[in-house]
Amino acid sequence: MSSEPVATILTIDDEDVIRRSFQAYLEDSGFQVLQAQNGRIGLDVFREHHPDIILVDLRMPEMDGLEVLATVVREAPEVPIIVVSGTGMIQDAIEALRLGAWDYVLKPVEDLGILEHSVRRALERTKLIKENKAYRENLENLVRRRTSELHDRTLQLEETNQRLHTEIDERKVAEAKYRSIFENAIEGIFQVDHMGKLVSANPAMARILGYPSMQELMGESRDFCSRLCDAPGMKEKFFRVLKDHGSVQALEIQTFRQDGQPMWGSVNAHLVTGKTGETVHFEGTLEDISDHKRFEEQLLHQSLHDALTGLPNRALFTDRLSQAISRCSRQNSFFALLYLDVDRFKVINDSLGHALGDQFLIQLAERLRACTREADTLARLGGDEFAVISEQVRSLSAATMVAERILEEMRAPFVIEGREIYSTVSIGIICCTGYCGSAEEVLRDADLTMYRAKSNGKARYEVFDNALHEQTIKLLTMETELRRAMARGEFELHYQPIVDVDTGSVMCLEALIRWKHPERGYTPPLDFIPLAEENGLIVPLGWWVLEESCRQLALFQARFPRPKPLTMSVNISAKQFSQADLGQKLKALLQSSNIVPGSLELEITESVIMDRGEAAIGRLEELKSLGLRLFVDDFGTGYSSLSYLHRFPIDMLKIDRSFIREIDATGGHTEIVRAIVGLGRNLGLGLIAEGVETEAQLAVIRTLGCQLAQGYLFSKPKPAAEIEEYLAQHND
Ligand code: C2E
Ligand code: CA
Ligand code: CA
Repeated sequence: MSSEPVATILTIDDEDVIRRSFQAYLEDSGFQVLQAQNGRIGLDVFREHHPDIILVDLRMPEMDGLEVLATVVREAPEVPIIVVSGTGMIQDAIEALRLGAWDYVLKPVEDLGILEHSVRRALERTKLIKENKAYRENLENLVRRRTSELHDRTLQLEETNQRLHTEIDERKVAEAKYRSIFENAIEGIFQVDHMGKLVSANPAMARILGYPSMQELMGESRDFCSRLCDAPGMKEKFFRVLKDHGSVQALEIQTFRQDGQPMWGSVNAHLVTGKTGETVHFEGTLEDISDHKRFEEQLLHQSLHDALTGLPNRALFTDRLSQAISRCSRQNSFFALLYLDVDRFKVINDSLGHALGDQFLIQLAERLRACTREADTLARLGGDEFAVISEQVRSLSAATMVAERILEEMRAPFVIEGREIYSTVSIGIICCTGYCGSAEEVLRDADLTMYRAKSNGKARYEVFDNALHEQTIKLLTMETELRRAMARGEFELHYQPIVDVDTGSVMCLEALIRWKHPERGYTPPLDFIPLAEENGLIVPLGWWVLEESCRQLALFQARFPRPKPLTMSVNISAKQFSQADLGQKLKALLQSSNIVPGSLELEITESVIMDRGEAAIGRLEELKSLGLRLFVDDFGTGYSSLSYLHRFPIDMLKIDRSFIREIDATGGHTEIVRAIVGLGRNLGLGLIAEGVETEAQLAVIRTLGCQLAQGYLFSKPKPAAEIEEYLAQHND
């Protein structure tokens, strides 16, 4: 029925009968029974077999039951002991129970069922006790475990708690620190929700934006971003950058303080997103950079304006000009540029001194400002150069009217420190429509046009035109080339003989310049002399010719000595003729060269002499006094006034080639030559026929009484070495 193990009962009794009867009965009841005939053996069995229950007789030899009882209770208190003893030993029974016996059964045991019942009850109790004990132990274990767990937990909690405390302390310190930073920061710090509403800001923020208090800033009804990004398009830009990059860095914004003052700020901001990536808010800082901006603007202004007059300087002007040009070419519109230069400013500056020269420029700038419109750009390009761009004028005539107004303004004297100073300006006007080149090109053309006005007499304006432009371009390139040619010594002189028509001997050589251009080869003088004349290069070039021809003449004179020495004629240009120091320098040249005195001749064209009228006389006399002989070149083309001619201290007339050319083979068309020869003779002047190419021409001039001739018939102009051969052959 039950799977419970069979309980083992140890019977300790000195009476065999009793032991056996117990055994028989209890074994029948299903127990296992061990026996021991005295206490000592009983304890041995007990120790060896660990019975579940012990039945012990109290009265036994050697060791009585109480002793057994006491030992067992001591060694195994859980094992139930039932004492079996005779009547009349009640004291013993009480003692036994007191020592720990579980039950007491009287001997003789008439009904063994009572014994069995006692055994079973004891076993039952043991079982209960055991279970109870196990349960309690379990419980205790559990409690112990729980307690220990609880203990651990408590420890952990304490630790965590401690940590939290520390953390909180640290945070408090940090927060205090950050709050202090937040409260005392110079930059405004803000936090704005996704709707653009300001949720938090520091006092600096209120201060920067000009609110009397934080409350008023926080109470601002407008959305904060619109408030911050006041300038058009700024807010959009702010959000675009924020969205694209998650942050904005040093974005410069322009807004207004609460009092209406404009201000500049630099914003740094970044988005703060939630777990799912949605924008929670954004936060950032605002720095007031108004001062910085103002300083920057000041610097910019300074860098783009002339300190003296406050006008835009060349850099700004060039920029405005570029803009005008691109507008003009885009919209095919019109604008005019006036380029002004003060005439003889150097004189003003030198006579007044720089400080007053500056005063003059300031007053001039004011007058110019009065002549221009608000929308025009008036600039000082440097020194005494000013320029105006006007997109208001719509035609050339309107532009010239501006120029006329300026010239008119200049008529009144400038009063500087009580002194009245009169001044004029020269103006170059250039009008642009459509595309008109780069700013540099337009400025250069205007400059050249102004220069033209100067050379046409100053105090006037000139208008740029394309022909002028092309000419100037050519002039410019030629000028560079000419300068280079001079530096590189690309010039040489050729010489053409002037011969006696009767004897054929060489009386004189005309020095003619040649440019041995590295690419173009020999460039004829008419291709570059007029340009050199215009840009003034003729002056140094002319000096080189004079020096070189004198050097060569000295060599020829030494090589071919004769009673009437060979002479050399050199062409003098208009500009050279007008040089103030011409006489002085020629004097020095004559002194330093080894030519025979009186053997240098100067050829000056008729027109140069006639243009200068009376003034030419003085100059010619000066030259004459140096021992120079003077030829009038290209005679017949310059409409000479006879009244002058006889007063000019000249030696020879060179009859222009065009008249000689007219003499045809039959000897016709000689009237002009005849008239010139007659005139020359009347005035006591020598005559040279230029460009004699044929024997027929020679015959005619000889008949007419012209003593000297020059032309291809005798020789073309040739280099010195070749002319030397010619001289050797015609040296009588
Ligand atoms: P020019 O002073 O009238 O010089 C005479 C020109 O006539 C030379 O031209 C010469 O080669 C040319 N010629 C001479 N005989 C004949 C001829 O029979 N037939 C033809 N068809 N031409 C003849 P070139 O050398 O070309 O010089 C041209 C002009 O350049 C000169 O005219 C002169 O005004 C100028 N020139 C030349 N050298 C100098 C110089 O050193 N200084 C200056 N200022 N002008 C110079
Ligand atoms: Ca000549
Ligand atoms: Ca000539």
